[in-house]
Amino acid sequence: MTATRHSIPDDLLIGYAAGALPQAFDLVVASHVSLCDDARARLATYEAVGGAVIDDLDAVEVAEDSLDRTMAKIAGMPPAEAKPFVHGVFPAPLREAVGGDADAVQWRALGMGAKQAVLHQDGETSVRLLYIPAGQAMPAHSHRGTEMTLVLKGAYSDESDRFARGDIEVADSDMHHTPVAEPGEDCICLVATDARLRFDGWLPRIAQTFLRI
Ligand code: ZN
Repeated sequence: MTATRHSIPDDLLIGYAAGALPQAFDLVVASHVSLCDDARARLATYEAVGGAVIDDLDAVEVAEDSLDRTMAKIAGMPPAEAKPFVHGVFPAPLREAVGGDADAVQWRALGMGAKQAVLHQDGETSVRLLYIPAGQAMPAHSHRGTEMTLVLKGAYSDESDRFARGDIEVADSDMHHTPVAEPGEDCICLVATDARLRFDGWLPRIAQTFLRI
């Protein structure tokens, strides 16, 4: 429970505070916030001013239930990030979503020892757990939209940097990378993807709304 080397960018954290991220990304952000003191502190700041931008959010194209979710947060719904980390690999929000820790996951084999479990899918937006054996490469890939990866166990490196437990990597359509799990420990990641182009469009507008205050 320390500050991680790679924390979440402010615009995505603001989107989360506003209740405006796709549901798949909420789970990744909540899990990251559980593991990263820096992200938790920044989130507290954004949530403190969040209520003031509700009216402005009407003009922004966001997920259908985002306003309700934001209202619920402001009404005092306990935030997921405040729940204590118990033990094991998964932070509390992820344990809740899965109904247990890594041993409770219904993994599906991908070949070469790699496994995945899709936790939620909504159109082209999804969040899944990825299990990569130590020392093994994930397939090289580019991104049609935004991909957010949170490391839960082990570590991996790609062309840009090294990512260990609690670290988050955000890749967009400009990025093409080949993540490789480090030797010595299998790597488990939580990955949210959104291939829809509009994801890039409305998020900066939400950030701008916040920054104007
Ligand atoms: Zn990727």
